[in-house]
Amino acid sequence: MEWEVVIGLETHAELATRTKLWCDCSTEFGAAPNTHTCPICVGMPGVLPVLNRKAFELALRVAFAFKCKVPPRTFFDRKNYYYPDLPKNYQISQNYCNTGTEGHIDIPVNGGSKRVRIHNVHLEEDAGKNIHPERSDADYSLVDLNRAGVPLLEIVTEPDMRGPEEAQAFMETMRRALLYTEVSECHMEQGHLRFEASISLRAPGAAEYGARVEIKNVNSMKAVTSAIEYEIKRQTRILNEGGKVARETRLWDDAAGATGRMRSKEEAQDYRYFPEPDLIPVTIDDEMRARVMAAVPELPLARKRRFIEAFGLPEYDAGVISDDRRTADFFEEALKTYDNPKAVGNWIMNAMLREMKQRGIGIVELKPKPAQVAALAKIASSDRINSPAAQKVFTIMMDTGDDPEEIIRREGLEQTSDSGDILPLVSKAIADNPKAVADFKSGKASAVKFLMGQVMRMARGKANPQVAEKIIQEELGKM
Ligand code: ADP
Ligand code: ZN
Ligand code: MG
Repeated sequence: MEWEVVIGLETHAELATRTKLWCDCSTEFGAAPNTHTCPICVGMPGVLPVLNRKAFELALRVAFAFKCKVPPRTFFDRKNYYYPDLPKNYQISQNYCNTGTEGHIDIPVNGGSKRVRIHNVHLEEDAGKNIHPERSDADYSLVDLNRAGVPLLEIVTEPDMRGPEEAQAFMETMRRALLYTEVSECHMEQGHLRFEASISLRAPGAAEYGARVEIKNVNSMKAVTSAIEYEIKRQTRILNEGGKVARETRLWDDAAGATGRMRSKEEAQDYRYFPEPDLIPVTIDDEMRARVMAAVPELPLARKRRFIEAFGLPEYDAGVISDDRRTADFFEEALKTYDNPKAVGNWIMNAMLREMKQRGIGIVELKPKPAQVAALAKIASSDRINSPAAQKVFTIMMDTGDDPEEIIRREGLEQTSDSGDILPLVSKAIADNPKAVADFKSGKASAVKFLMGQVMRMARGKANPQVAEKIIQEELGKM
């Protein structure tokens, strides 16, 4: 029997602040263990946390980007549990009043889009890291608290996804949205971005959801998708044998390619949440709302759609150009100089992005400005220079950042449409090639092509081909 797959995802994103959530220790990744710590983030008794405003505003930016409801005032709660990487024995999080609720994100599905509801967006502190020695006879583990207290944003969806492909599309769309909003660097290998999936099955058309399994310990998007696929098979087998899926938390084992039981929901801890007494509530006043909202960009999928609809870009081109926010900004800025989205888009895709890749540089290190690339696109679509010359101008622009006009002048790349310049070349080509003339007279059209080649060679590519061909036809007609 076929079961309907139901998936909800929790996204954890480390916010791109310079300092931690409650203290001014650095958030930099990769430092020697326990060097980015202080009494606050190692959980000494008696110290007081102070909210990092920037972190709060980044959380708020995400809530607005996903069209969440945002309360006028929010606060933090203590989530009490013991674990070696959590020296305070509680995590400061939000439980009773989230930064945002009831939002949504649109994800691309089968050429269209699907709306995934966001249950809530909330801010909490990350925990440290337990380091287990590789030696199998070691009887100890180590704890690195550099990560303890790094601001962590949690984004919880409603169970709206219906298969691994939708979960994959969600993760990719979420990552791009967090990069676009510039709230997280999203380096998955540095643990900036982590996903946890909940999966259940139900009979098609059933009104109620089935018992869900939550999967932890997934370190990459690929692992999340594999874990979901594994769980679907496992739960399908149980249901088809007439069994019941237990509501539990399972751990993904990447090497084994399987999930294993971690704990059942019945044994789940009671976190004894209560409002954090050491922090005052945060008021989200009109000024803060307006300021943060102003920093929310159009999200990538919406921008891609607009590039297709308003500018007539092909779907593929729109996707490539909108993929990175700065590239998309560059494109739109360039259109202010030359309002021809297809031509400008082509130069960005086929010349600029390709050269950037070859040179291993990003858009911030790029020498040409949007107006200069637009100016070149405009010149190239006129008959002032031919295509190889335009490519040459672009390469020089990449090296120097000079204006295309200046490069064309300096390199003498302008092509001539002046018959006074072209006629002597045509006459010489005809005089030097009597066989081509004879061919033309006996009706071979290829003779014109041959003579064109001779003229263009003498002109070093700078003769306007249409004008040259016209003169060749005229001169041969006279013979
Ligand atoms: P809890 O309070 O136990 O953590 P939540 O209601 O917050 O549970 O849900 C956690 C995650 O599980 C969310 O991403 C949600 O979409 C997802 N989820 C809830 N119920 C189901 C279900 N029956 N099947 C799949 N996912 C579910
Ligand atoms: Zn600290
Ligand atoms: Mg939860």
